Amino acid sequence: MPQKYDVLVVGAGIAGSTLAYFLSKKGVKVLLVDMRPYARAGDKACGDAMGKHHFDELGVKYPSGEELTGTVKGIDVYSPSEGTKYRVLGDGFMIDRIKFTQRFIRGAVDAGADYWEETSATKLIVKDSIAQGAVLRKGPEKVEVHTQLVVDATGYARVLANQAPDNWPIKDPLKPEDAIVAYREVRKLDREVDEPEILRIYISKRVAPGGYWWFFPYSLKNGIVNVGLGVQHGVGYPNPKDLLYKYVLTRPEFEGSEIIEAGGAPAPTRRPVNTLVWNGLAVIGDAAYAVNPVHGGGKGSAMITSWCLANAYLEANGDTSNTALWSANKCFLEHYGIKQAALDIFRMFLQQLSDEDLEYGMSRKIIKESDLNTVSMKGDLELSVVDKAMRLLAGIGRPSLLLKLRAVAKYMNKAKELYRNYPNRPEDLMHWINEVSKLYEEYRTKVLK
Ligand SMILES: Cc1cc2nc3c(=O)[nH]c(=O)nc-3n(C[C@H](O)[C@H](O)[C@H](O)COP(=O)(O)OP(=O)(O)OC[C@H]3O[C@@H](n4cnc5c(N)ncnc54)[C@H](O)[C@@H]3O)c2cc1C
Repeated sequence: MPQKYDVLVVGAGIAGSTLAYFLSKKGVKVLLVDMRPYARAGDKACGDAMGKHHFDELGVKYPSGEELTGTVKGIDVYSPSEGTKYRVLGDGFMIDRIKFTQRFIRGAVDAGADYWEETSATKLIVKDSIAQGAVLRKGPEKVEVHTQLVVDATGYARVLANQAPDNWPIKDPLKPEDAIVAYREVRKLDREVDEPEILRIYISKRVAPGGYWWFFPYSLKNGIVNVGLGVQHGVGYPNPKDLLYKYVLTRPEFEGSEIIEAGGAPAPTRRPVNTLVWNGLAVIGDAAYAVNPVHGGGKGSAMITSWCLANAYLEANGDTSNTALWSANKCFLEHYGIKQAALDIFRMFLQQLSDEDLEYGMSRKIIKESDLNTVSMKGDLELSVVDKAMRLLAGIGRPSLLLKLRAVAKYMNKAKELYRNYPNRPEDLMHWINEVSKLYEEYRTKVLK
């Protein structure tokens, strides 16, 4: 059967739409489909904040005009009592997620891509152990599309990757506890916000167990804020909406405020997927678990997965074998995934801490603001930082916490080392996956228990 498209991209969120754009502008024939209408493109519940560094790294134009709702100069992170505040400076944007996503869909279509809105993929077509396309539904119509590369960009749902044969390492199922579930509202306050270019994150196990709650102002629309709360999934914590209403929206700053938008969604918060490509199937964005495990931001890293896959595809000249596309993995790990693997170790440690430990750690500045920035940007928690804290705090309490933090720093380095040594060939992947499982299991049993 003649193939009309080179690549089928299912899901036109930020991951799928940027991939379609990167490929189409280089002449690749792309079909991009999404179950949502164009008017709701990219409309997943979100905090709407993005770091500027992602745009600089990928050479993508900054959000502007209708896409931009605010500029960000930094983040304040509050301790459980709110008695201690860390200010981490860094430039970013508050975006209109729909207008921003539409930019890439339009760009892809202008460059020759076909885009089918309100079209759902229902089935991955696998023949002779190769993904060959997908079954799509648009209303009552059913269409089979056959391509050499099928890309699952359906976010957390992983509609196609979850149908892959069990022995494909791209399937890599998500454990519920390696995800968060979050709820947020966009609210109009009856007052202006102080320092509208500073985002606020509040850490408290009582209010947001295994997560945090946030207050993100849209600085260009002062008085409008994105307020939300995320909890660790799969461990029996209460519903984040109930917690937001109980502990957050009862605060005086929300008195008289009005809801503009509301909604919730889950997000993966673990190390990256084993591989972005396997036997004609690729995953990007949330479907590739490309989310920062500590703060849950995933739009910038979704763009990195798309950029890496697009570059690998273009270099491979139409060859979609695992070997030909393997550089997508190397590229993503180098630009993001190595740090992400270390942050997964840190995330599990943070989720275990009590409010008392968090308060102690932040008030004594065991990890300082500058160190926090390094941890979040690079996944580096230097042993020297922990050792220095141990010497400074000797005799004034919580030695077990400090020792644990030292072990966490060691395992973060081990994880980085393992991900730096990601296999050069698909044939060596299974051995490496076993090494990864062993390391995380050892960390769970030796450090977390
Ligand atoms: C509450 C919350 C707050 C967040 N805040 C931030 C933040 O402030 N900053 C940040 O960077 N990240 C944030 N994130 C994470 C961020 O939203 C995601 O990482 C990002 O949107 C992932 O993009 P994606 O394109 O991979 O997936 P999605 O945005 O989920 O897109 C997937 C697309 O696939 C489509 N789809 C699904 N199934 C099918 C199907 N069967 N057929 C066709 N189409 C289908 C959907 O309609 C959707 O358009 C937040 C997440 C949550 C839950």
